[in-house]
Amino acid sequence: MNTALSMAYLLAAVFFILSLGGLSSQETARRGIVYGMTGMLIAVVATVASASVQAYGLLAIAMSVGAVIGLALAHRVEMTAMPQLVALLHSFVGLAAMLIGWGAHLDPRIQLSGAEAVIHSTEVYLGVFIGAITMTGSWAAFGKLQGLLSSKPLMLPFRHGLNAAALVVSVVLLLIFVTDDHTALGLTVLAIMTIIALLLGAHLVAAIGGADMPVVISMLNSYSGWAAAATGFMLGNDLLIITGALVGSSGAILSYIMCRAMNRSFISVILGGFGSDGSAVVEDDSYGEARSATHDDVAEWMREADSVIIAPGYGMAVAHAQQSVAELTSKLRKQGKTVRFAIHPVAGRLPGHMNVLLAEANVPYDIVLEMDEINADFPNTDVVLVIGANDIVNPDAQEKPGSPIAGMPVLEVWKARKVVTLKRSMATGYAGVGNPLFYRDNSAMLFGDAKDSVQQLVSKV
Ligand code: NDP
Repeated sequence: MNTALSMAYLLAAVFFILSLGGLSSQETARRGIVYGMTGMLIAVVATVASASVQAYGLLAIAMSVGAVIGLALAHRVEMTAMPQLVALLHSFVGLAAMLIGWGAHLDPRIQLSGAEAVIHSTEVYLGVFIGAITMTGSWAAFGKLQGLLSSKPLMLPFRHGLNAAALVVSVVLLLIFVTDDHTALGLTVLAIMTIIALLLGAHLVAAIGGADMPVVISMLNSYSGWAAAATGFMLGNDLLIITGALVGSSGAILSYIMCRAMNRSFISVILGGFGSDGSAVVEDDSYGEARSATHDDVAEWMREADSVIIAPGYGMAVAHAQQSVAELTSKLRKQGKTVRFAIHPVAGRLPGHMNVLLAEANVPYDIVLEMDEINADFPNTDVVLVIGANDIVNPDAQEKPGSPIAGMPVLEVWKARKVVTLKRSMATGYAGVGNPLFYRDNSAMLFGDAKDSVQQLVSKV
């Protein structure tokens, strides 16, 4: 690799690191994205201009097709469908790693011997293995998020045994593959492992229940990073190795943080729910009657309140209600009321989903608080508005052992004097479990689309 290319790659890597630093807080996130785009531009230009790239015609066609698809997707995708898009994009990284691995194995120009051959074969094998798992795992995640697959965990008999057997067989096949000298046996071994890894990826993700999907998404993000790093080793491309390692490790850290926030075992989630008994909750209808309130009732409670907390969830994103919510907030604050937001780590369908929406609506950052910062304040709060949230405010997480969300920390909204939930029906949230919050004495439902309801409240308070 020549010096100019190495320098360009180094510069791009510095931009990627600055980008990660920027993305760690809301105030600097935009800057972080600009750093990331700059790094990627430098990387692409430097690679295309390097001596190893000659097929410009093919490259132009591939890049144009990719750019058209990317632009069309980015324009069309709804904010609520972002997780599915991210899952699909992760699957492309997996597919690329798999194809490059196969390409590197079949390439007649690569003639190595001794230790070099063993290292190359190991890189190929691991690249294909991680790539295949990432691809089908991402497809399974896409299916679950898009509602094509059930959000309930898939419980095959002996599922942990099946996963363990797949791993053991893959290790044995690796040993055969690295000692093989490009014979038909090596090809067969690689093909068998590819099929095993494809099935394993789909199975690992399918076995994870709806409420744990946030961790799965960040975990697949991490896998896609390792797949890219493996590709970097196969192609001898330092920048891909660095970038892949950055994505892989930051995704792993995010998964770990989310597991801690949700009180889940990291190991259990990455091993496809290992350690959970997979018991499904038995739903009962013994909650009683939910009380329905009118817009006038809620406006009256808000007028009388001194302190208000807003707990937004996925429904706020679906209804595009964030601007109206910001308007309501500003009106209440002008009346001298304390208004704050309570953000659950997995509210919505993406890590940071609610923060992004509220930032877009220009809600001041200092009144947007994380769950741990605000949970203790609910008992001193007059009114809580739950806007299109369900699982993240479900008391069963604390009170019903055996529930799919048992043990997950939740916003303790029921401890406030009055809780009003804005949603369209009594339907369950993503985890598919009933919510006793709606039936409590201090709780009322304000039925309807969240945006319509909030707009009515704005005109009435
Ligand atoms: P939920 O999915 O639990 O609940 C959302 C609620 O919004 C629904 O009950 C729905 O009720 C209501 N809703 C939908 N559309 C509208 C609308 N237009 N107006 C008003 N209400 C509406 O969301 P939460 O945010 O509470 O919890 C997030 C869930 O998603 C958790 O289970 C989490 O594990 C999971 N998840 C989170 C990810 C993340 O990274 N944040 C990723 C993947 C999954 P109704 O139909 O009656 O209106």
